Amino acid sequence: MGIATTGAEQLRIGGLTPLTSLDYPGELAAVIYCRGCPWRCPYCHNADLQDATGPSALGWRHIVSFLEVRRGLLDAVVLSGGEPTAQQALPGALAEIRKLGFKTGLHTGGPYPDRLAALLPLLDWVALDIKALPEDYPRITGAPGSGERAWQSLRLLLDAGIDLEVRTTPMPGLDDTGYLTRLFARLAAAGVETYALQQCRTVGPSAGMPAPRQIKIDDAALVAARGAFPHFTLRAV
Ligand code: SF4
Repeated sequence: MGIATTGAEQLRIGGLTPLTSLDYPGELAAVIYCRGCPWRCPYCHNADLQDATGPSALGWRHIVSFLEVRRGLLDAVVLSGGEPTAQQALPGALAEIRKLGFKTGLHTGGPYPDRLAALLPLLDWVALDIKALPEDYPRITGAPGSGERAWQSLRLLLDAGIDLEVRTTPMPGLDDTGYLTRLFARLAAAGVETYALQQCRTVGPSAGMPAPRQIKIDDAALVAARGAFPHFTLRAV
């Protein structure tokens, strides 16, 4: 089932990073932060974007004017969030970005596999956040069925052969070496080749999760990740 498209003008935007070399591998990119997310992760660093009804910081015409004068300076535009696929205006926005001559990237948690499938022809690169094994997702997102949706999105992206990075930000209680090694094995068996572990500085308290603390990914987990994936990155977020 496809996503119904509306004009890019309807895109609700929380902010813009005008230039980054970190958010799209190998490319100079701008990042557009979209409002709205169906999940409620306690470590969310963009929690102010979770509410889809909040004010749009920038209009779409402002984005287009910004991009028009950056042709030849920027390679790509990344849609991030929040959860960009929560918005019906995303396909229209991606199509306009392509028309302006930029590559398109997407940061997503994969909560809407059907919508993601419909977006594939408009995307050059995707970063998919896989938070945990599917059965453990509700402890993180607060949403029943969220793990099945995210892993369905993973299958879809792997089958499509799109340029893909899978990334995990481990949570307290789901960050020991044994757990992470099981997660790596499932991802590698699924066909993931490019993988990043993101080390969160601190994680706040929430229902069902232990008290906030620093996440420290130990050396044994790093060795396991290096063994599981041909392309592995450790980064601080
Ligand atoms: S899925 Fe991402 S944007 Fe949504 S609440 Fe979780 S961390 Fe925040």
